[in-house]
Amino acid sequence: MAGGLSGSERSTVPGPGGESWHQDSEPVAARWGSQHPGARELAQLYTPVKRFQEWVCVILNIALMNCNFYHLVINFSWDHIHLILIGIIGGMITADFASGLVHWGADTWGSVDLPILGKAFIRPFREHHIDPTAITRHDFIETNGDNCMLTVIPLANMAYTFISVSPEAMNDIYPWECYVFSLGLFVTLTNQIHKWSHTYFGLPSWVCFLQDWHIILPRKHHRIHHVCPHETYFCITTGWLNYPLEKIGFWKTLEGIIQALTGNKPRVDDFKWTQKTK
Ligand SMILES: [Zn+2]
Ligand SMILES: [Zn+2]
Repeated sequence: MAGGLSGSERSTVPGPGGESWHQDSEPVAARWGSQHPGARELAQLYTPVKRFQEWVCVILNIALMNCNFYHLVINFSWDHIHLILIGIIGGMITADFASGLVHWGADTWGSVDLPILGKAFIRPFREHHIDPTAITRHDFIETNGDNCMLTVIPLANMAYTFISVSPEAMNDIYPWECYVFSLGLFVTLTNQIHKWSHTYFGLPSWVCFLQDWHIILPRKHHRIHHVCPHETYFCITTGWLNYPLEKIGFWKTLEGIIQALTGNKPRVDDFKWTQKTK
């Protein structure tokens, strides 16, 4: 089992928001929440430079998203509506898989000590496991900055395509661009959707509706990921792929291949932060 813990060394205890958590038989300092020593240290590593990067990405993303949406609206035609719908749903499925892959990669491998990448991009994943409700206290910029960054280049490429192609060519590529736009939109929204899945009070009724109908990640569904050692249900956009990927042992197989090739054990850094006592 990851991090060197066997099942017999842990006992299950209720976590924040009712999740099941496992606790070592040896008592340690607070195992989760904002008072956890690791969570306090990780929260302090959020720097003004990182904040600035997030602001820039959010502004660029919103501008490009509006520009692309405008072009999609003015070029809309009912002719290939079935392909448009397939494109939108395909984009959502791809975004869900991408969210799982990135989340799994950051949870399972790498370290906060990695130069630049560690503090900027792995830190939030470590913080989230030991203080899962911290995300509900993050503002719009901190919640969405990194996801906005991931989609800036594809969205800029899409905007360039829209202003440079002929109307005939536009008609041909329209369903494909709907797929790319849906993918970009749902990748951008992923951490906002994830934040909503941790929010138990004051959610708008339309968000609850989308969660209840499993169009976006439902709260109860995401709790499965928050069972230590956080080794399954990594998809956090719609969560549609979690069950099938778990059923075929997708993440376990991938981890086995990587461990066999590199000798690295999964979740070593995540486990180290969970165990911090000072
Ligand atoms: Zn995680
Ligand atoms: Zn979460």
